[in-house]
Amino acid sequence: MPAKAPTIGIVSLGCPKALVDSERILTRLRSEGYSLSGDYDGADLVVVNTCGFLDSAKAESLEAIGEALSENGKVIVTGCLGKEENLIRAAHPNVLAVTGPHQYEAVVSAVHAHLPPVHDPKIDLVPESGLRLTPRHYAYLKISEGCNNRCSFCIIPSIRGDLVSRPANAVLKEAESLVKAGVKEILVISQDTSAYGVDIRYAESKWKDRVVRAKFFDLTDALGELGAWIRLHYVYPYPHVDDVIPLMAEGKILPYLDIPFQHASPRILRAMRRPTNQDRILERIAGWRSICPDLTIRSSFIVGFPGETEAEFEALLDFIEEAQIDRAGCFKYENVDGAASRALADQIDQDEIDERYERFMELQTALAYARGETLIGATQTVIIDGYDDDACAYEARTKADAPEIDGIVRVFGAGVLKPGDILNVRISAAEGHELTGEAL
Ligand code: SF4
Repeated sequence: MPAKAPTIGIVSLGCPKALVDSERILTRLRSEGYSLSGDYDGADLVVVNTCGFLDSAKAESLEAIGEALSENGKVIVTGCLGKEENLIRAAHPNVLAVTGPHQYEAVVSAVHAHLPPVHDPKIDLVPESGLRLTPRHYAYLKISEGCNNRCSFCIIPSIRGDLVSRPANAVLKEAESLVKAGVKEILVISQDTSAYGVDIRYAESKWKDRVVRAKFFDLTDALGELGAWIRLHYVYPYPHVDDVIPLMAEGKILPYLDIPFQHASPRILRAMRRPTNQDRILERIAGWRSICPDLTIRSSFIVGFPGETEAEFEALLDFIEEAQIDRAGCFKYENVDGAASRALADQIDQDEIDERYERFMELQTALAYARGETLIGATQTVIIDGYDDDACAYEARTKADAPEIDGIVRVFGAGVLKPGDILNVRISAAEGHELTGEAL
């Protein structure tokens, strides 16, 4: 009788990029015969994949490590906070090992050392697409690691290093495997998606019977041929972003752009050392919408950056309205350890930051409600995420909604559906980003 498979639990914190790292670690461990447990009790050892982006994220990571230690006792730490081993060990001296971001080999070695694998050829097989922590019908596709920019509020380049793009054919092969495994929606992620390939000089690689360049447009175009919904995240508005708008108008990729503008005031953007020039951005957005009227723009913004005046903050609010940003996320500025912006004069009082955040959210909620109203009576194509027992309705998303961060549609009157099914609905009610629809 084969020995019981050693069992791993994983706690994955942070951004979608960290989630992809967790998936890779699990894929590798699973391929070696480890079992996975969804709770601390069932696990022989727990891997905590941490986030170290903001001080609040660090605190959350340290808390998660503490919880895993008290609930399970055997804990290996990885991810962005792993760069700060001293901090982790000072708070939690009993962790078994600490490794940094993307150190898959080191994590796996640490697991081997503390919980050796039991070889069983029957469970060494991994599905071609690997294992995913996200539901089966959508998956994140990471096209590069690191970032060449040096935004003054951000420490990601010091943690993750400079941009390292994956070859185009490797990305396409992974995407194709995901689609073959049943994935209906692919979320393209990286720190700076539209800079893809610049580090490898847009290297060509062979994909099927042709050659594809590691370039934002070329990759997007090729991904659009796979028959899944393709959603682009973390796109900086470099001039060549204009080229993908026609692909959206043709229906080849989703008419959705997640662009982290962060601010609208040219002076603040310079102080933030943002990589793109946002001059004439309103004109460009109007141009995009004239080509692709259904375009949805999601963005995130920081309020309370050092030196932000009331007038500059108001310019930000005006921008959100004028640009008709469909989904606007807001972060309160945080003085992150190691970030250049810490040294800036004119730090804003926390009360002022909180107040600006409230005003931002008030406007964003009003805009969301107004936008929702315009959708009543419209036909929308939605993808099913699951069933909501309380509402007795399917929960779905339109093309304008990314999973977990945007809105939902509760679908009534449908037959039996499963996650990933795509259908048309007529929107009958709206409350901000929460819509109700009748199946057609
Ligand atoms: S683009 Fe700026 S904010 Fe984004 S990861 Fe790079 S340095 Fe950080």
